[in-house]
Amino acid sequence: MRKRLIARIALAACAALLAAGCGPVSAALHDPHDLPALAQDARVHYEATAKGYAEALAKLLPGAMARVEAEQGGPLAKPFVVAAYLDDDAYAAGNGLGSPKPRGVTYFDRVAMSPTLWREEPEYLEADLVHELSHEHLWGHLSAVDYFQIPVWFVEGLAVTVSNGGGAQRVSIEEAEREIAEGHVIETPDVAYFFGNLGLKPPPRVENEDQRLRVHMAYRQAGQFVSFLRAQNRQGFKSLLDRLTTGERFKPAFEASFGTSVEAMRERFLTAARASAS
Ligand SMILES: [Zn+2]
Repeated sequence: MRKRLIARIALAACAALLAAGCGPVSAALHDPHDLPALAQDARVHYEATAKGYAEALAKLLPGAMARVEAEQGGPLAKPFVVAAYLDDDAYAAGNGLGSPKPRGVTYFDRVAMSPTLWREEPEYLEADLVHELSHEHLWGHLSAVDYFQIPVWFVEGLAVTVSNGGGAQRVSIEEAEREIAEGHVIETPDVAYFFGNLGLKPPPRVENEDQRLRVHMAYRQAGQFVSFLRAQNRQGFKSLLDRLTTGERFKPAFEASFGTSVEAMRERFLTAARASAS
């Protein structure tokens, strides 16, 4: 019995490793740098059929970069490319995650934007581009090891905050506060999970609910917590970003910047959210 359990755990670990490995391997073979680049902005690459998408991204890019640089304290540190895809398989193959589902994926120096975003939700394009560039800002300053030591709720919450809701558009602040008041809250640990930044786990909720809505709920709550931290202590927030972009570990950087723990700030945030919901 015990042997079987160990075998199952080993199999699950292998599957997780494989899932985490497929995206990067595929992305190495399908590098967006190899796609044609726009004449007007060589940072923007595109699949043959996605030139219009790429042109829309190129128009938004300077403003999106300026916003991230102003909000996250300094210039994007390294060159990067933005890639526009209209084919789901090509997008999944090149985005580093191996999945066509996210509307954007940032992986090292590549920002891949999804076919679905352009086809179905072009009104989210600007905010989602800013969201991805928030990640690119961190990638540009950090090694992969340093990047993945930052808890995913902070990475995503920062991107939602800086983009004014990018990635959380389907859930309002009020809806998020209501869920918090009901006790449905995302986890916000002060250390990263193993395979930490592969996704933000939504809070539990009723069965059969649209999974996309749950993801937006998670992102909205993360964004609200990060916005709360910034509003509570602007200087502390700036200090945290400065410390993180020089590779300091999240927990000591947070505690030195805010003078208290993530747990203590979380309690204050939850109290404020509950009060706002009532
Ligand atoms: Zn994100």
